[in-house]
Amino acid sequence: MVIELVDPSTGRPFRTVAATSAAETDAAVARARAAFPAWRAVAPGDRARLLRRFADAVDGAIEELAWLEVRNAGHTIGTARWEAGNVRDVLHYYAAAPERLFGRQIPVSGGLDVTFHEPLGVVGVIVPWNFPMPIAAWGFAPALAAGNTVVLKPAEATPLTALRLADLALDAGLPPDVLQVLPGRGDVVGRRFVTHPDVRKVVFTGSTRVGKEIMTGCADQVKRTTLELGGKSANIVFADADLDRAAATAPDGVFDNAGQDCCARSRILVEASVFDRFMALLEPAVRGVVVGPPGEEATTMGPLISAAHRAKVASYVPDDAPVAFRGSAPDGPGFWFPPTVLAPVAPTDRAAVEEIFGPVVVVLPFTDEEDAVRLANDTEYGLSGSIWTRDVGRALRVARAVEAGTLSVNSHSSVRYWTPFGGVKQSGLGRELGPDALHSFTETKNVFLAH
Ligand code: NAD
Repeated sequence: MVIELVDPSTGRPFRTVAATSAAETDAAVARARAAFPAWRAVAPGDRARLLRRFADAVDGAIEELAWLEVRNAGHTIGTARWEAGNVRDVLHYYAAAPERLFGRQIPVSGGLDVTFHEPLGVVGVIVPWNFPMPIAAWGFAPALAAGNTVVLKPAEATPLTALRLADLALDAGLPPDVLQVLPGRGDVVGRRFVTHPDVRKVVFTGSTRVGKEIMTGCADQVKRTTLELGGKSANIVFADADLDRAAATAPDGVFDNAGQDCCARSRILVEASVFDRFMALLEPAVRGVVVGPPGEEATTMGPLISAAHRAKVASYVPDDAPVAFRGSAPDGPGFWFPPTVLAPVAPTDRAAVEEIFGPVVVVLPFTDEEDAVRLANDTEYGLSGSIWTRDVGRALRVARAVEAGTLSVNSHSSVRYWTPFGGVKQSGLGRELGPDALHSFTETKNVFLAH
């Protein structure tokens, strides 16, 4: 079976890739298992050096990787360059880990007690289509650094950069079968990662629906999982905020990657006393989003990933939808959708409740701090969010009260490779990136040696 890849900016197929079968998946897992003892035995300094070489190989291929993503995922060239650079940086960051994977020496009587962080074995990484490169690296880099071998399944629609990264790993000197990329179907390759007894952990990023299936499936073998799932994050704007900046940057917070971002601040909550002023400032910012060919440097927003996804996004903006204003998008072929602002909407409206995963945002008023927190938390999700205020005390109170894993104040930043990332409630389980993620790819072993 083959997968046909489509350029989202033209709607035209441009390449096919062979889909891995269940039997081929089993064979790859067997190779990964066979490669594990030698990989975990590589001296820490050597494993570190190999990962640094891998990072350097990625650095040398930034343009190539970025243009692959422009074609395959319709990402703007600016975003795609950032993504490839992020893979390099994540590799460099975790390349510092092998020599620092310290255990502890714990005081006991009658002997010596020490702990070891043992690698798990084969780790399965399942990646969505929205950020194919970084999300792959957030799984494979710490997994490899900790001494695991990795089988990785990219999303059906976007396998090209992951395949190229696996080649670069080999070029850099990583042994064969330490990092294998298996393009294919979720319900074939991904499911096999869940059911195969030799895959000891599944790192899944994707929809909450599939994440629940993964968690249920993994329970059967008490298999370790990290889940990074959906979001419906709030951008909370208080009356005392720098409203100009809050409004000017709100489009970045939600329309980045055409809204196909799990951290999209897709609910803007604005203090009622400044609602009209905020909307007046937001309108030119939204109209200023440059939607167009993703390969052009000036473009700030590209197309959606597929015709089916565009139809799903469009279902949140029916003809009678309360469109306050919207930007523009190219006509003609390609899966285009203009940045769209919905107001007034009720907090219970479908567009205010469900993850749209496209360039559609709702704006809701709130009365005071308590009401803002109540509205922000009125969702099954809890991934990300922003708080705009000049009051430091309020910023801290609200940041502590909002149920989300990754928050920013007077900014929309979510991801730094050296700080933890992940969600609460139905946005996920576990954390990626930062100093702690490494330990989720190891088991702590305690050893007591009698005198
Ligand atoms: P998806 O759940 O449909 O697919 C994600 C991956 O899982 C794909 O590789 C797919 O092939 C695979 N898959 C599908 N069914 C499977 C099964 N039964 N068993 C094993 N694997 C299976 O999600 P998507 O549409 O590709 O991505 C969009 C979703 O991802 C959004 O909900 C978004 O919020 C979420 N996301 C979350 C984060 C985060 O870090 N929290 C980051 C990016 C995307």
